Parts: sequence; structure tokens; C-alpha cells
Amino acid sequence: AMGSDYAAAADLLRAATDVTLLGHVNPDADALGSALALALALKKLGKRTRVSFGSPDTVPEVLRGLDSDGLLVPACDVPAAPATLVVLDCGSDRRLGPLIDRVAATRAAGGRVLVIDHHVGTPRFGTDHILDDTAVATAVLVLALLDELDVPLDPAIATCLYAGVLTDTGFFRRATGATHRIAARLLDAGVDAEELSRRFDEHPFAWLRMLATVLGRAELVPEAAGGRGLVHTTVHLSDMVGVTIDDVEGVVDLVRSSSEAEVAAVAKELEPGVWTVSLRAVGDVDVRAVAVSLGGGGHRRAAGFTAHGTAEDVLASIKRALG
Ligand code: 5GP
Ligand code: MN
Ligand code: MN
Repeated sequence: AMGSDYAAAADLLRAATDVTLLGHVNPDADALGSALALALALKKLGKRTRVSFGSPDTVPEVLRGLDSDGLLVPACDVPAAPATLVVLDCGSDRRLGPLIDRVAATRAAGGRVLVIDHHVGTPRFGTDHILDDTAVATAVLVLALLDELDVPLDPAIATCLYAGVLTDTGFFRRATGATHRIAARLLDAGVDAEELSRRFDEHPFAWLRMLATVLGRAELVPEAAGGRGLVHTTVHLSDMVGVTIDDVEGVVDLVRSSSEAEVAAVAKELEPGVWTVSLRAVGDVDVRAVAVSLGGGGHRRAAGFTAHGTAEDVLASIKRALG
């Protein structure tokens, strides 16, 4: 089945002349890298392409660097009814945010919508699908599609794909043998892994101050998560002095490194009373189920949701959902 999915997707892209590629809101390196890599490949095949997100203004500086060819356009420049649409790294169409209407518009105009994703339980909301929840990153699926399209890797394409694999595997912590074979191909194609890893791991000096405050506020709740520990903290708007929300993304990984933490939770205040919550699990706790019960989604060991109220409200809802 998977083989024919790739062949059908390759056929539809070969037949297209104009392709719009969309990833999820607040794009990460997998959403952006996957979309840009495929867009660069399609450009090589002579297609007109553009890449966008529901909230393009928030594309982090470090990710913007992947857009070596200027393919990223603001959401307002996405055609009302794209001729051909590719949706990447979205576990549901709602992850497109304000651009969700492009799926129906493309379909209504008789266009094809190709969905490429690796989340668990992604519904088949397109006309064509490459869905594989065993893939460590959407970038892995895009690489297989590029092979099907016979597009050779170049340093720019390989760098975009490597960025997706790098971050979705937690800097290769969750890599398999297959992941490393893919990484080897990408490195051989010209990725500067040292430079890329440094870029993804550097922050302004103000980040250290922010960390000191936020980690100083961390609390351990023993036996909150199926008899095991929950470690949580909050990042308030007032903590984000001289740093951006992107500098805050890694806080959950630091919190998780506490040996008592079976589950780590970090609530980040986007605007007053609006929080985006990152959940991570070390063992068997399914944080995706927790996130889904609170209106979000994700993977078993990395999930998230959006919440409203005070920091205490958000924490109470997490504890309740962990039961
Ligand atoms: P992060 O904590 O890195 O922001 O997100 C971890 C994972 O949780 C992401 O890969 C994504 O799949 C999922 N996720 C985060 N926030 C949301 C959300 O608001 N809704 C949904 N459906 N999934 C989310
Ligand atoms: Mn993603
Ligand atoms: Mn992903």
C-alpha cells in the first residue's frame, strides 16, 4: 500500500505546474524543513512553488535560515484555491490554523490535496495520502517521495530534511538504524551538521537569565503521573525579556532531564491568559492522550495543547488529566 501511495503522489506532483505547500501553525523544523525540501525539489522539476504557514510571522529566525531560495510566503499570499496543495506534518486539518479553508477550496476546484504526515491517527482529509506513524519525522517520508520522483539530493534539500530529522528525533535520541542510514545519505549530500546543530542550539545571553527564573520555579509532584513524578514549570510573558518564544522551546527538554520526571510539562504564556503547553513523557505514560483530552494532540512521548486561564488553572487541568 505504501509503495503505491508514493507512486500516486509522485504522479500527481509530476502532472502539477503550480504547487502550494503548507505545514502546521508555529512550524517546527520538521514542518518547515519537509515543506521546503519538497518545494525545492519541485522547483528543480520546473514547478512554481510556495511554502506557507497559518502564522508565518512566527517562523523562528533559525528556521528562516533554511529558506535559502526565498520560497516562504506570508499566509495572505497563499492562493484562495491552490491548484495543487501539499499539507505536511499536520496530524489533522485543524493544525493548518487560518489556512484550513484552502483544503476545501482546492478540492472544490477539482484540485488534488496531498497529505504527508507521521502522527498517530491522522485522518485522510486530502485526496492523496502518504501517512506513516512509524516514521520518526515527516522529512523521512519526503525523502522517500523525492526518491520516487528521482530528484537527486543537493546540499539545500538535504539540509532541510536533516533539520527535520534532527529535531523530531530529539537530536537523534529517538533515532533508529534506519534514521542513521538516512542521516548518512543527507550528510553525504552536503549537510554541515556541526553548523546546523550549533544554529539550533544557540541562544542570546538573556536566555540564561530566563532559564534561571523558569527552572527556579520548577516543581516536582511525586506520584502525579500513574504513581510516578510530574515535573512542571511555567514561562510567563514577564520572563521573556530579550528572548523569543523559540528560545523557550527547549525548556521542556531541560525539565524532562530530571530523573524523577516521568512526565514533564511546561506552560508558556503566549499572550495574557493564553498558554501553549508542552508535554513530554519518559516512560509509558501516553501524553498524547492527556493532550487530546485537553483539546490538543501530538505523539505518545511529545504532545501539546493550548489552554486559557491562570498558570494554576493550567496545572490543575494537567494533573486532573494525568489522573
Ligand atoms: P511542542 O511541545 O514541541 O510544541 O509539541 C510537541 C508535539 O505536540 C508536536 O509535535 C505536535 O505534534 C503536538 N502539539 C503541540 N501543540 C499542539 C496543539 O496545540 N494541538 C495539537 N493537535 N498538537 C499539538
Ligand atoms: Mn511538527
Ligand atoms: Mn514531525
